[in-house]
Amino acid sequence: MTKLRVAIVGAGPAGIYAADILLKAERKFEVSIDLFDRLPAPYGLVRYGVAPDHPRIKGIINALREVLDRGDIRVFGNVNFGTDLTLDDLKRHYHAVIFATGAVRDAPLNIPGVELDGSYGAADFVSWFDGHPDVPREWPLEAQSVAVIGNGNVALDVSRMLAKHADDLLSTEIPENVYEGLKASPVTDVHVFGRRGPAQVKFTPLELRELGELNDVDMVLYDEDFDYDDASKTAIASNKQVMVIDKILQKWRERPAGTASRRLHLHFYAKPLEVVGDENGRVAAFRYERTRPDAEGGVVGTGEIREVPVQALYRAVGYFGSPLEGIPFDKKHGVIPNREGVALKKGSNDVVPGVYATGWIKRGPVGLIGHTKSDAMETIRHVINGEGSWWAPESPSEESVVELLDSRGVRYTDVDGWHNLDQHEIALGAPHGRARVKVVPREDMVAISRNETATV
Ligand SMILES: Cc1cc2nc3c(=O)[nH]c(=O)nc-3n(C[C@H](O)[C@H](O)[C@H](O)COP(=O)(O)OP(=O)(O)OC[C@H]3O[C@@H](n4cnc5c(N)ncnc54)[C@H](O)[C@@H]3O)c2cc1C
Repeated sequence: MTKLRVAIVGAGPAGIYAADILLKAERKFEVSIDLFDRLPAPYGLVRYGVAPDHPRIKGIINALREVLDRGDIRVFGNVNFGTDLTLDDLKRHYHAVIFATGAVRDAPLNIPGVELDGSYGAADFVSWFDGHPDVPREWPLEAQSVAVIGNGNVALDVSRMLAKHADDLLSTEIPENVYEGLKASPVTDVHVFGRRGPAQVKFTPLELRELGELNDVDMVLYDEDFDYDDASKTAIASNKQVMVIDKILQKWRERPAGTASRRLHLHFYAKPLEVVGDENGRVAAFRYERTRPDAEGGVVGTGEIREVPVQALYRAVGYFGSPLEGIPFDKKHGVIPNREGVALKKGSNDVVPGVYATGWIKRGPVGLIGHTKSDAMETIRHVINGEGSWWAPESPSEESVVELLDSRGVRYTDVDGWHNLDQHEIALGAPHGRARVKVVPREDMVAISRNETATV
């Protein structure tokens, strides 16, 4: 073999870091990498998850772009594994595949009423405000009072985007329809609910602090949540992150009552019980049970049931991976079963030859973008040392996969196509003093990328 041909499915940070690390790794053979993504533009959740008002994190795209711009990784966007390209195709043209398909769906919240009108998954809302091509353009923002369930950073993103005034987002890359939707929102109160106490949240301090800096939004906290038990006191004293979070919350508690037109309430010790509907099947309230610390850092129910009237509810209780055609899937954790990135047969320790995983589809939807780098290092080590389990492709030439996609009429996009789209978006933003305005419809993204602008 002169060249190891590797397919990576998923051009989010995990896939791009894996390609970069494989190319730079010490090895005794050449490699040639093709990176596929179902979306016409690369960068996964950095483009379609990270909130638009977090330009510093969005800026990670620049570092990822430098990797792609080097020219030693071929990118095929708008190619969906499972339909446009199958596992058999990959086996015919590559020695191995690394899946870096992340997690795009909401984890379920199994309480009655979760299917009511006005009850949404955070992932769908995030996709809407981040201009994902595969979600509806319109988002119903009709509620004055909204509940957000969850105590992680996605819950903070969702609450912030709901509470923030649209004009304060104008400098960001939000698409026009998102600005218009948020501008018309009548929201006055956003209630965030967590099952446990302030010392057990999964927020990171930077993201939490930001809430208190929002223009014309008051933070509302409740004294009853701050009667710390010993486990909470220990957590605050022993963990710097928890200590900072506590300081932020305490500072907000000391603020005099505000007069802002919008309020963001943080409720702790609230176990979701039910989304209560009205006679038209629409969300009317959120019912929860008050919990209390169990002295071990967990909580137990107190039996006290409460209800807060809301007209919309967002569940931000985590993301979840999706199964891939022909690849083992762990339904409980939403990941490809694996040992350090080497795919395993379901329910056994047997290796699936030629198949690897990295990023969120490998270890579940937790952790920051940076974590996908260390993840990729581990997986790539196994790819390089896995010679015994690589496939023996019939047709490993670089042209063969292009011919295959062409023969199927797949309108794939490439790195040059991304440059076209990038420049187009930047040009859309320029007259308004904005860094960019995102193009949302998939067809437009593809046409602009492929220079077929006559159809746009
Ligand atoms: C709302 C939200 C906000 C976040 N904010 C931050 C933040 O501020 N800072 C931070 O460090 N981290 C943040 N994260 C976490 C960060 O986004 C993840 O750590 C990271 O994106 C995971 O990378 P990944 O490559 O594994 O998955 P992803 O980024 O999801 O990339 C997976 C890629 O695979 C593609 N794909 C999926 N299925 C297929 C298929 N069948 N065929 C072809 N392609 C496919 C997808 O289109 C996608 O491009 C946030 C996450 C979310 C959800």
